[in-house]
Amino acid sequence: MKQQQKLALALILPGLMLSGLASATHSWNNYHWARTSNPLPLIVVDSTSPEWSSELDATVNAWNASKVLSLTPVQGETDSRTRKRCSMVTGQMRVCNAAYGQNGWLGLASINLDSSGHITKGTAKMNDSYSWYWTSEEKNHVMCQEVGHVFGLGHTSEDGTSQGTCMDYSSDINSQWPNAHDYEELATIYGHLDSYNSYATGSEPPSTCKGRKCNSRAFGLGHRIYGNEHFEIWAEAEEDGTLTLHHVYLADGHEEH
Ligand SMILES: [Zn+2]
Ligand SMILES: [Zn+2]
Repeated sequence: MKQQQKLALALILPGLMLSGLASATHSWNNYHWARTSNPLPLIVVDSTSPEWSSELDATVNAWNASKVLSLTPVQGETDSRTRKRCSMVTGQMRVCNAAYGQNGWLGLASINLDSSGHITKGTAKMNDSYSWYWTSEEKNHVMCQEVGHVFGLGHTSEDGTSQGTCMDYSSDINSQWPNAHDYEELATIYGHLDSYNSYATGSEPPSTCKGRKCNSRAFGLGHRIYGNEHFEIWAEAEEDGTLTLHHVYLADGHEEH
């Protein structure tokens, strides 16, 4: 690891350790996209197969009810190789599903932070290898939650009780979508403006997948820095000095019987 990367980790990790515990306001350590005005015009690259397309549309519509978000879905590549890699697109969010294997997670949200700590790109992945878990309600719940993490939201609770939002860990049918509190939380997180934009609205997103990185991206999660029975957070220092964080929705307790 280069010195610069060590420094980035040393600066950011202490905040991360607290973020898993401080859930009263349920932001994810106040992570957010930088923007000089609101709402945030974020492109959502759709790399989902037809089995998840209606859930993605519904999730995008639900989050778009936030006054600080303006999400535009664009059709991305959907071949299985692209969906498995789900490589990050600079300045945008990509959503993918694939059979990632029975590797312990149902859903995985990843964000990349620049040296100012702003989100510059992110992915939300749903794992088809746990096919028995995916009722239509749970597809909505997990996709909505993973996408919510990419805006910088944390969980409202982690004990399985329902707050009527997809950001909880309840299997209640009312936990498929954001609730009013989530929109309030977003308004708080995005209540200030920044001096630059960390999103990109280009219609032809550049691929950021180069050489070895394409392969390591799939399951290289870096270091586990927080975890409980429901989720884990992993941090990974990138070669360019940025930091990628992974928010893992664990499959524990959802094994096939
Ligand atoms: Zn900011
Ligand atoms: Zn989560």
